[in-house]
Amino acid sequence: MGWSITIGRFWGTAVRIHVTFLIFLAWIGFSAFERGGIAAARESVLFIVAIFTCVLLHEFGHILTARQFGISSPEVTLLPIGGVADISKMPDKPYQELLIALAGPAVNVVIAAALLLGVDVLHPQALAHLDDPKGGLIERLAVANLFLAIFNMVPAFPMDGGRVLRAALAIWLGQTQATKIAAAIGQAFAFLLGFLGLFGHPMLLFIAFFVFFAASGEAQMTFVAQTARDIRVGDAMETRITAIDRGATVGDAVNILLATPQDSFPLIDHGGALAGMISRADIVEALKSASTETPIAAFAHKDFSTIDPGETMDKAIEKLNESPAVGVVGQDGVLLGLLTRQSLAEVMLIKAARPDWRFSPR
Ligand SMILES: [Zn+2]
Repeated sequence: MGWSITIGRFWGTAVRIHVTFLIFLAWIGFSAFERGGIAAARESVLFIVAIFTCVLLHEFGHILTARQFGISSPEVTLLPIGGVADISKMPDKPYQELLIALAGPAVNVVIAAALLLGVDVLHPQALAHLDDPKGGLIERLAVANLFLAIFNMVPAFPMDGGRVLRAALAIWLGQTQATKIAAAIGQAFAFLLGFLGLFGHPMLLFIAFFVFFAASGEAQMTFVAQTARDIRVGDAMETRITAIDRGATVGDAVNILLATPQDSFPLIDHGGALAGMISRADIVEALKSASTETPIAAFAHKDFSTIDPGETMDKAIEKLNESPAVGVVGQDGVLLGLLTRQSLAEVMLIKAARPDWRFSPR
């Protein structure tokens, strides 16, 4: 995520703080300072930092559980609305998703229990005043953790409860059906929130929108992941593409750029083997810095990614996340076609319109 600062690396995952979070922290500090001076500002900022440390531990509950199932998470980012861990892929089995989703709120329950136990040992009488806003930092932090656990178990995406619900349903109904039902429940919940928002706090309306779109986004993501497993790269690739000859000049490349709407051009040698990949932007860049007679090959990327036509599309999605175009290459290295995000979107549209569509071999 852009606009984030890495503050450290824990258990192999980079912890990043989004700039908006720092602004949020400054705003909390400033408004507390206006009310109660430097001491109030310090306490408020300390409290927020403590809560977000718990949010981070919650995320690490997900991250470390996911790792048990071979799913890595290179980074986690703190935003004012909470933490976002980028989990590299969806777990294959519903019970794995169930455990990963439950691990986050479980961490908050454990923290709350530990804090309350600590308070109980130190000041037994304090527990009677847990809901007192003037209570000590520890008591308020315990309450905040209980709130985090309960809030996250609300059965609507993107909350963990939505995933728990989907995973539990998927054990009986399968992923696709379970996601549909969980997304529908999430959206019904969003409507309820929105309805309450109309008469109550406008913030609820905002959260309702967020939950509604997260629910439909989740349904879409699952559809794509499921469908991709059944489609072969050879069926989805673009075959009517223009390739640039390895010996072509910058001038030739500009002419080809003008003649086609393509964004990425494969560079091929005489035998038809893929030798590089060049984008429209690269060609324009070449035109700026070199003469039209310069060979275009010097500006092509040699670290292009390729895929076998027999692979399934879920493998291709991972590659398309890293580069805008992937060369589809046969055993002999000969270019057979090109796979782009556009071609992925097209097969998904076709499968959404006609789930029983059979791609004919090309
Ligand atoms: Zn969570």
